[in-house]
Amino acid sequence: YHLLAIETSCDETSVAVVRNGGEVLSNIVSSQIDTHRRFGGVVPEIASRKHVESITVILEEAVEAAGVTLEEIDAIAVTQGPGLVGALLVGVVAAKSLSLALDVPLIGTHHIAGHIYANRLVGEIEYPALALVVSGGHTELVLLEAEGSFRIIGQTRDDAVGEAYDKVARALSLPYPGGPHIDRLAQAAESAIELPRAWLEPDSFDFSFSGLKSAVLAEINRANMKGLGVEAGALARGFQESVIDVVTTKAMRAAAEFGARQLLLCGGVAANRGLRERLAALCAEAGLPLLVPPLALCTDNAAMIAAAADLKWRRGEFATLDLKAEPQLSLEAWSVGRA
Ligand code: ATP
Ligand code: MG
Ligand code: FE
Repeated sequence: YHLLAIETSCDETSVAVVRNGGEVLSNIVSSQIDTHRRFGGVVPEIASRKHVESITVILEEAVEAAGVTLEEIDAIAVTQGPGLVGALLVGVVAAKSLSLALDVPLIGTHHIAGHIYANRLVGEIEYPALALVVSGGHTELVLLEAEGSFRIIGQTRDDAVGEAYDKVARALSLPYPGGPHIDRLAQAAESAIELPRAWLEPDSFDFSFSGLKSAVLAEINRANMKGLGVEAGALARGFQESVIDVVTTKAMRAAAEFGARQLLLCGGVAANRGLRERLAALCAEAGLPLLVPPLALCTDNAAMIAAAADLKWRRGEFATLDLKAEPQLSLEAWSVGRA
């Protein structure tokens, strides 16, 4: 069977065709980053308009690259939320139109379930599994007791990791999105400026990154006031070390406490080299199998949406044509078997 998936939750227009739930035949991603860069972040109105401009082209490209015809598509999956409402709407309308025109089922999909199930395209998932979700808008520890069942055991109380990366990068006058630039600076730096770690209460699996972000801004101000140059490399490294220390320590502790048989890393920040390396080392030491998607499946793409939609396809949990874009869609409520 072939699932065609559409992702338009933020600033990537993406369409993928996936065979039998795991074989990616095509995964076309059109990023709007160049458009948004001059504004230093995603402008929602512009994002919606850009999705409208590209969706048809990307759809045709994905079907052609997959080497299938539209008649061979068995279901249409679409990111229903969370995300920017105007951006989500473009994908949802396109998906409904296709579902109606081809007379195939429609599957409403959760964007973060997609990030997590990107790992299903890499290998078999063993349950219970623990997912460390680090993206532009989310930082969460999610326990999967069984396939398609999501329980959030910790989350950020303020900024998401990716958001903190982007804000720090902006303060250092680096281009948007800043994550990859900070990553590169941190790797190249010879020393680190020591920055605080927000551990919160001893037994908490929650996160907080706004204090760390403020600490970076304070360091920059201090350097400027003294008329000294900002040590961008050492700051980037200090920032990255604090982030990696906290997220990996909490993930390892949660994996042990909940008896996880596998750790899943995902979300745009999972592309971070330092984070991938540290987590791999900690998991090897603990004898805990780790899955990490390749870079192209870490950032937003539609193949991961197909991978999550497959959970509902196999259970026949389909949406109707009154499916709505839901900017605040809950991950736990999206768990399979609850429809
Ligand atoms: P969400 O998935 O929470 O809705 P999003 O879809 O906007 O948010 P993603 O596309 O998953 O987010 O991830 C984008 C984020 O990943 C950006 O904040 C970007 O800076 C960050 N990022 C990308 N590459 C790296 C890297 N190498 N190191 C750190 N951060 C990175
Ligand atoms: Mg994006
Ligand atoms: Fe995302």
